[in-house]
Amino acid sequence: MQYRIGILGGSFDPIHLAHLEAARIACDKLDLDFVYLVPAGNPYHRDEVVASIQARLAMCELAVQGHHWLKVSKVDIDRMGNTYTIDTISDLASEFARDFPNDSVEWFLILGADAYKNFPQWKQPEEIAKNVRIVVVSRPGEDHQQFDRFPCYFIDVPGWEISSTQIRIAAKNNETIDELVPAIVAEYIKTNKLYTD
Ligand code: ATP
Ligand code: MG
Repeated sequence: MQYRIGILGGSFDPIHLAHLEAARIACDKLDLDFVYLVPAGNPYHRDEVVASIQARLAMCELAVQGHHWLKVSKVDIDRMGNTYTIDTISDLASEFARDFPNDSVEWFLILGADAYKNFPQWKQPEEIAKNVRIVVVSRPGEDHQQFDRFPCYFIDVPGWEISSTQIRIAAKNNETIDELVPAIVAEYIKTNKLYTD
């Protein structure tokens, strides 16, 4: 069998409804079998990750419950050091070859427009682009540009005004986050007092 699998990496600090929508729309448009959510171990481009690895992973695992098109991969958490997407892809490919020795796979790397904007500065972008098809989802306030060297399949969505940053601030100020994350994730954030000082 030839699989079509999406990869959506992120800090997921916390995972929110726009992440899940991006995965679902990419799945629909590109007829993917499923999408891996890949929480970053140590995202090299971020100054700070607020919640622990365990909490970010737990929230991803709660968020995928009941969604057969979503799986969580721990490859970036299990690897030591900074998270680079070239390593994510290589580790996922090794896992796939081990688990499905008789099958093949086409990988689709799903990025928000803000992430794609920086793609040429990532580690080994040419190597990444050789191994995956790049899928870009529009994001409010972000222009979409195409890089000739790294062409992408662009999905223009109506736009979700949601970011993890905004959710961390709302949680800290005791404002509701119920419209921004799955109910079970909102519950986890409250119970574990994430993002409050
Ligand atoms: P933060 O505010 O902490 O940076 P974030 O909301 O940007 O969090 P990330 O974990 O940084 O979430 O993003 C993971 C991936 O999801 C990135 O490719 C990002 O572009 C994409 N993404 C996040 N939010 C949206 C959104 N509202 N619309 C489209 N893509 C999004
Ligand atoms: Mg971000």
